[in-house]
Amino acid sequence: MKPFSFTRAETVQDAIAALSVNPDAQVLAGGTNLIDLMKYDVLHPAALVDINRLPLKDITALDDGGIRIGALASNTAVAYDENVKQRFPLLSSAILAGASPQLRNAATTGGNLLQRTRCYYFYDTATPCNKREPGSGCSAIGGVNRIHAILGASSACIAVHPSDMCVALRALDAVVEVEGPEGQREIAFADFHRLPGDEPQTDNTLLPGEIITSIKLPGNALAGNYTYLKIRDRQSYAFALISVAAAIDINNGQVTELRLALGGVAHKPWRDKVAEAECAGKPADETTFGQFADRLLIGARGQGQNDFKIELARNTIVRAIRQAAAGTPQDQTVKAIQ
Ligand code: SF4
Repeated sequence: MKPFSFTRAETVQDAIAALSVNPDAQVLAGGTNLIDLMKYDVLHPAALVDINRLPLKDITALDDGGIRIGALASNTAVAYDENVKQRFPLLSSAILAGASPQLRNAATTGGNLLQRTRCYYFYDTATPCNKREPGSGCSAIGGVNRIHAILGASSACIAVHPSDMCVALRALDAVVEVEGPEGQREIAFADFHRLPGDEPQTDNTLLPGEIITSIKLPGNALAGNYTYLKIRDRQSYAFALISVAAAIDINNGQVTELRLALGGVAHKPWRDKVAEAECAGKPADETTFGQFADRLLIGARGQGQNDFKIELARNTIVRAIRQAAAGTPQDQTVKAIQ
């Protein structure tokens, strides 16, 4: 590990100032990803700005039925918050599908959004990786790529975003509230993470000096029929091969509203609102769900070892919507696949 300076911010403005004067500074919150990356010599920031004392832990119910989640609220606090469980059980379920209890106790909401890809080569400094070292090449293309992207990839990077929480936040139309040298602003969740393009080293649209202060979830009426279905190599402490956050509203056997985001398939949670809108008014049956899955997966392309993910994604999408429609959400507490 290389030497670095350490600053403990007491206010949001302190943190922004410390980040603004040093472009090589990194924010330290739960540290569940950053410290690993420093130990592996993947990241070697010149400065750490510890934000753990900032007053950003509150989870507040909003009058519109929504919720505001402070950036420093732990994953555990969010998953077991009574208002989150009641209003957004999809989010609670997604969080409990991820990591381990110990990690969820330490990991923060803001940090969950900012975690880096789990591509093996990104962590292996002996191999080329455009995300770690721009211009060096992508070892996963033509290499070991079983967990990699089938949508939205580029010739520079085929990594996927590893979060479960973010898949639910995408389906729930979350808004990321940030603050930086130019003041406060909101970023629609769909615009927060980037596809890799020619700059895979840039994961998100935060500007220099900005920090996430909270996540806002607008109210909706989709708490009754939802599921978070995660397919992985083992039933605990594993990243998703495919995950689906789905919520559906049905009236007289017809789809009124469908929301669905896919995880484990791209550099960011994947969603197609046009395809969702086309389901409105159609029968809530396997034909509609299958057609929707086909539409969502247009352009899906395997990299060799991960070709199986395309069919797996289709099957998982249909099964997740079927479960949501029947009101049998995936139970992450007992880990039973229903
Ligand atoms: Fe690096 Fe992305 Fe290629 Fe993985 S997929 S080796 S993160 S450039």
